[in-house]
Amino acid sequence: MRIGIAGAGLVGRLLAWRLARAGHAVSLFDADSKTGEQAAGTTAAAMISPFAELAVSEPEVFRLGMISLATYPQWMADLERDSGCSVMYRHNGSLAVAHAPDVSSLRHFQDLLLHRLPVEHAQAVQVLSGAEIDAYEPALAGRFCQGVLLAEEAQVDNAELFMALQAALTRLGVVWHEQTPVLSLQEQRLQTAAGWQTFDLVVDARGVGAKEAISVRGVRGEVLTVDAPEVTLQRPVRLMHPRYMLYVVPRANHRFIIGATELESEDKSSVTVRSALELLSALYSLHSGFSEANIVKWSVNLRPALPDNLPFVGWKAGVLTINGLYRHGYLLAPACVLQALSLWENPS
Ligand SMILES: Cc1cc2nc3c(=O)[nH]c(=O)nc-3n(C[C@H](O)[C@H](O)[C@H](O)COP(=O)(O)OP(=O)(O)OC[C@H]3O[C@@H](n4cnc5c(N)ncnc54)[C@H](O)[C@@H]3O)c2cc1C
Repeated sequence: MRIGIAGAGLVGRLLAWRLARAGHAVSLFDADSKTGEQAAGTTAAAMISPFAELAVSEPEVFRLGMISLATYPQWMADLERDSGCSVMYRHNGSLAVAHAPDVSSLRHFQDLLLHRLPVEHAQAVQVLSGAEIDAYEPALAGRFCQGVLLAEEAQVDNAELFMALQAALTRLGVVWHEQTPVLSLQEQRLQTAAGWQTFDLVVDARGVGAKEAISVRGVRGEVLTVDAPEVTLQRPVRLMHPRYMLYVVPRANHRFIIGATELESEDKSSVTVRSALELLSALYSLHSGFSEANIVKWSVNLRPALPDNLPFVGWKAGVLTINGLYRHGYLLAPACVLQALSLWENPS
């Protein structure tokens, strides 16, 4: 089948890859270059956190997230084979902690989560004492007296994932139209500045760029990347606070992503002083070794969200549409791609 996909962000790339490796002739169109710097997916911390999200999201997000969590290991192995690139995928949980004055925020998070958690997953949420936190994360020794381990959560290095998908798509012969905005999509055809092109299937995966087709809004998020040679963390750490919930996500070579603000705004201008102060104070309060960290970059992007903050996978005027992955794109993308493939393959 000849398939045209608009949007080569997280979802567009993943879907193009799964279709290309199944033998389809895929054309991928993106307004951006192949590196995907405009995609929310390259700004994200890329935590795969069904449990932490359950405290603040609908049960459907958890359900889809668990499907993704089960899918990632096989897909990561497939991707390494197809691309020849290694992608850091870690499945050793995440940790939520709070400083002593903010312990009620941690308890509230824990209560919400346990209240919504299906009973069969209860063992994946473990309340930790200070000594247990120290054993899991020696770098935090003596700093926190209570925490919650979300033992089954995972994370992926999004920069490596985007690069590996790009390499795999090239090897699999996907025709990639970079810097080619799609102006309009209809059943079996899409329009760029060069005119209309026809396909057997057309997919809209443009995230916030699909406003004329679906009622998507952008939700601003700001993140900071630092190199901190003095700090070693084994897993993402969430710092609970009455006003914000921030996280520090470790990558290879003592690099850390710190995020994220969440603002109902479509402004993509650079990080504000207020957000910078919040992120930096939280970082410094987690570990004093971060005071000597080098700031690598500040990033801002928009999460694509629908009015109900839930993902949409379905047909819109004959176009297979995937959108609304909001703040959990890495958590939901494999499940949404599987759902899209199943919708297409089983039209009844
Ligand atoms: C600060 C921040 C932190 C995040 N952290 C996490 C996290 O820890 N875990 C998690 O699960 N999720 C996280 N997310 C959410 C995740 O990044 C998004 O849900 C996900 O990237 C959405 O994927 P997408 O493919 O729909 O959109 P995108 O990744 O934004 O891709 C959309 C693509 O469409 C292209 N496009 C737009 N308009 C057009 C057009 N007209 N024609 C052609 N191409 C077009 C864009 O250039 C882009 O490449 C975070 C997001 C942000 C902003």
